[in-house]
Amino acid sequence: MSENNTVIEESLTALLEDESFLPDLKAQTRRQAFKSLVAILSTPNHIHKSFLRVALEDGTIVRVPSFRVQHNDTLGPYKGGIRFHESVNEEEVANLARLMTLKNALHELPFGGGKGGVIIDPREYSVKELNLICKKYVQYFNDILGPDKDIPAPDAGTGEREMDWMMAEYKNTHPGLPYRGSFTGKSIINGGSLGRKEATGKGVYFSFRYLMHNFLNDNEKWLREQDNLFAETALSKKDRKLNIAVQGFGNLGAVAAKEAFKCNELQNNIVAVSDRDVMLYNSDGLDIPALVRYAQEHGGSLPDSNTALKENEIKAVINDRDELLELDVDVLIMAALENQIHEENMDKIQAQIIVEGANAPITVKADKYLSDNGILIIPDILANAGGVIVSYLEWIQGRDTQFYKEEQIYKLLFDKMQKTMDTILPQFFGDPFPLRQNCYIHSVMKLSTVLFRQGKLY
Ligand code: GLU
Repeated sequence: MSENNTVIEESLTALLEDESFLPDLKAQTRRQAFKSLVAILSTPNHIHKSFLRVALEDGTIVRVPSFRVQHNDTLGPYKGGIRFHESVNEEEVANLARLMTLKNALHELPFGGGKGGVIIDPREYSVKELNLICKKYVQYFNDILGPDKDIPAPDAGTGEREMDWMMAEYKNTHPGLPYRGSFTGKSIINGGSLGRKEATGKGVYFSFRYLMHNFLNDNEKWLREQDNLFAETALSKKDRKLNIAVQGFGNLGAVAAKEAFKCNELQNNIVAVSDRDVMLYNSDGLDIPALVRYAQEHGGSLPDSNTALKENEIKAVINDRDELLELDVDVLIMAALENQIHEENMDKIQAQIIVEGANAPITVKADKYLSDNGILIIPDILANAGGVIVSYLEWIQGRDTQFYKEEQIYKLLFDKMQKTMDTILPQFFGDPFPLRQNCYIHSVMKLSTVLFRQGKLY
């Protein structure tokens, strides 16, 4: 049984006992219906697997294993990224597809959940080879993709270049049919949305700022009256200087760090950032705009030598990348890959607040351990939905062939995230469950109600 299935089962058990939810379902029928809900939500509808046949530049023919998992389409066409990574596998893609179903349901997006994976290290392939892999992916999964069937987007190891290539191949193979909504996360000139690239990072920071500034200020009196461990954690950090460490400095981590750096509402001090090679530390706070500039000019990498730091007038010490998670900070923003906090390092975590920018960066065991210790975790499905929310806006713009201004995109994005947080946060601080479980319960309620109304629960 995979990890987030446990949380789905727990959420459904809580709902089974709450007879005000789906009150038409009673006794044996109710138990039966909830059993089928567990089955529906914990297994994907389809797992598509292909070995893409690709001719490399040196003439060798390779077979590249690739997947598209379509988890659930109750709320609309399948939606979710395609990941290019050497360690991606079928189980991971299936888990991430399920997370997309829950994420889209949580934020009231008209999409189901899907995810794709290609087992390659993209850095080891030439541009021409990557282009071929993208084309082949579309050719092999041709029948199951489309603007009203399944809409991929970027994920780890892919970006607008890959989405442009894939959309072009989809267009070639579907002459005369609508194609703009077949992929999201495309470049702007190719029908992408302004703000899509920044959306996930901006959304991640927004979720943190909204909770720690807006929500705490508006509800302080009520929060103090609650006998709630997580409310205590949040309030203990109110109006204080917040030392922040950011794991990952790619598109997500760099944008989130920049938002944190320029935020006027909170007293943020970003003391550490890391990438796949190094961690940079400065207890007085790092110059994030200078680091972002540096990374932009150096293929996304942070400075990794004292000479590079000196030349760019950046004050920091270079440390081991993996030490970042164990630093004595208030807040950890996790913007790298999954399973970063696990059984072996969970007792060394000192941060009191963790924001999950990446998908599933904390294992289920570690999540339970940290939550039991009152650590407030803003979970992936709540925090990192900015990407798919702006993907939705890109999909709408593609249908209308009318494009929004960048400010409009950010307003729509933040309004959507705020609406979700205003629904979830009062419930969360009023009960003993961690925030992740509150989000899951909300998503599962939405999915169950729609399945029930559609006559599919029996
Ligand atoms: N890969 C992103 C995610 O995990 C974006 C998905 C999308 O835009 O469809 O949420």
